[in-house]
Amino acid sequence: MAPKRRAAGHSQTTPAGNEKLLQSTTTRTVATFLFTLVAAVILGIFLRPTAQPGNSHEDSPHSRLLSEHAFVVRDLPGRGKGAIAARDIQQGELLVREPPLVLLPSAVTASPNQLIVEALSRLSPEGVEIFYNLSYVRVPENLPPAQFAERVPLAIFETNAVAAGSNVGLFPTMARLNHGCSHSFNSVYSWRETEGVLTVHALKAIKKGEELLTAYFDTRRPRHERRQHLKQVYDFHCTCPSCALPDKQSRVSDARLVKMSGLQAKLPSWAEGKLDGRDAIQVVRELWSLGDAEGYTSGRGRLAADAVYVAAAHSDRHGVIGWAELGVKWATYELGGDSELAEELRRTAAEPSSHPMWGRQASMQVGGPDGSATAA
Ligand SMILES: [Zn+2]
Repeated sequence: MAPKRRAAGHSQTTPAGNEKLLQSTTTRTVATFLFTLVAAVILGIFLRPTAQPGNSHEDSPHSRLLSEHAFVVRDLPGRGKGAIAARDIQQGELLVREPPLVLLPSAVTASPNQLIVEALSRLSPEGVEIFYNLSYVRVPENLPPAQFAERVPLAIFETNAVAAGSNVGLFPTMARLNHGCSHSFNSVYSWRETEGVLTVHALKAIKKGEELLTAYFDTRRPRHERRQHLKQVYDFHCTCPSCALPDKQSRVSDARLVKMSGLQAKLPSWAEGKLDGRDAIQVVRELWSLGDAEGYTSGRGRLAADAVYVAAAHSDRHGVIGWAELGVKWATYELGGDSELAEELRRTAAEPSSHPMWGRQASMQVGGPDGSATAA
């Protein structure tokens, strides 16, 4: 079996690799948005995977339809299926926009298996075929046929589903994207609650013939931990370009990723009064520059929104505008120009004092992305 997978860069997401997903877990992305208020409302980016053990068959009509122009789903030697760019793709392009084939609450009291079986009974024959064309992991091949058949539906769901607001959804097209860590993923998926669809955008420019990769979880951690997680949840050994780096370069990359993760975790201490506004903005700048060095650019719309939050609280008009404009640019790449985050940042850039945090803390020039802290 050689499953694949993917995730929110920052977008974090929640892979559905285990039963917990359906039981309690609020599969939310952990992605750290610190300032939950604003952020949380805005969106959830998730990740997820796909696998392709021996049960993958031909591309479904569903996938072909949705992926026609930008990419094709193809068998990859020794690696199951993957999505390959059929032409050059520009940064920020919308690649997939699809409703869930199956959507279940993330917290359930009934047997998850039963829920899946019921959900399948409501699908059209074509939908059922699409479902069974998806891959799965962790169902022993040597089970008696009846038991095997009983376990496969849940295994498919767990291997491929991703968080969708307070639910967990199965999105067959997006499920064809394999996973890449750190600088390797070039596509990000996110759930749009108001529209009830999952979108996938090109985080980076992608050349014709390159594979589209997404991140199934927050990969800002060392290679051995990433691999351990992927093995545990999706049962595959990651050989993405980031994981395939020579040891020396991998250690440098790991150090950056760990530092990024630590800085991200430090940001909320501003809200607790342990970090002043300038220091919080400095943390954001460091994250930004480490991301440049690593090639990790996911989550920047949200990161800029966090900086806006700080700048607004300290009534730094110049800072708010600078970060909000930068945030619009990155949110547009990753989530779309019509995403809630992009729209919210656009409104804030136009009228900084409309931000809900405006003036909540002592006035301070915290500075914009360019490092300047000139008075507004
Ligand atoms: Zn990897």
